Amino acid sequence: MTPAVSGRGVTVKYGQSVALGSSDFVIPTGSITTLIGPNGSGKSTLLNVIAGLVDPTTGSVVIEDEGRTRLSYVLQSTKVNEALPVTVAEVVAMGRYSRTGLLGRMNRDDRAAIEAAMKRMGIDNLASRHLSELSGGQRQRVFVAQGLAQQHDLLLLDEPLTGLDLPSAQAIDDVIHDEQSHGCTVIITTHDLAEAQAADWVILLAGSVIAYGPPDEVLTQEHLSAAYGSLHVEGGQVFLDDPAHRTSVSRHHHGERQIHTEMDRSDLHD
Ligand code: ADP
Ligand code: MG
Repeated sequence: MTPAVSGRGVTVKYGQSVALGSSDFVIPTGSITTLIGPNGSGKSTLLNVIAGLVDPTTGSVVIEDEGRTRLSYVLQSTKVNEALPVTVAEVVAMGRYSRTGLLGRMNRDDRAAIEAAMKRMGIDNLASRHLSELSGGQRQRVFVAQGLAQQHDLLLLDEPLTGLDLPSAQAIDDVIHDEQSHGCTVIITTHDLAEAQAADWVILLAGSVIAYGPPDEVLTQEHLSAAYGSLHVEGGQVFLDDPAHRTSVSRHHHGERQIHTEMDRSDLHD
């Protein structure tokens, strides 16, 4: 296993408050890695550290071959002001700013990349709409398209599937797997256990990294109890006692993969 990213003794503090306690982790190159944990467990903080947006207070994060690694970061769309007076095409075009500069001219390659990203996310017909005119799922697809318009080796997405309608979730799930098949390492945060189980690699957080590795080694009853407090079973489904996300989600099949599935007891490895 070649690590794309590794961290040792990483902590993040804001004043006296600890956003991420001392954490070690590794993320394999070419994997789809899921950061999972309850609300406030440090998922976005860890993603920000990996992206270089936040400096760790202690410890270090190493991006393999950092000088040559290109990174895209897709923010959680609910954290972006939907009232921004910009169109879909303009938001996606911002994905090219790192190359063109803010006032730089778009060339044919830039325009082709923007067009292709909108097509892949099925939003090319929305190009001239304003963000405020879109559904939550469409808006999330716009931000993923902005990420795709950049060329990258590391793609970071903060809760890209949370609360989305099924077509949007499927479009994003497809693209995540396409990016992986093109050699990209994809890191996504979620609080959906089934999403984590479908990933190649999982990092479980609860204020710090509790465990990392393949899903069946990380998502054990013991680790999950440590992260979520207690688990309880109702009608054959396992619920995490995360008060913010207590609802169960229905099972949807998509090709070989399942997204947003419910869990039954046999899914838990102990
Ligand atoms: P998650 O993404 O798992 O919900 P976060 O990484 O956003 O969790 O937050 C982890 C903890 O750090 C939370 O307690 C949160 O309130 C705190 N935190 C995050 N960002 C900041 C910040 N900029 N200033 C102060 N505290 C923060
Ligand atoms: Mg978060």
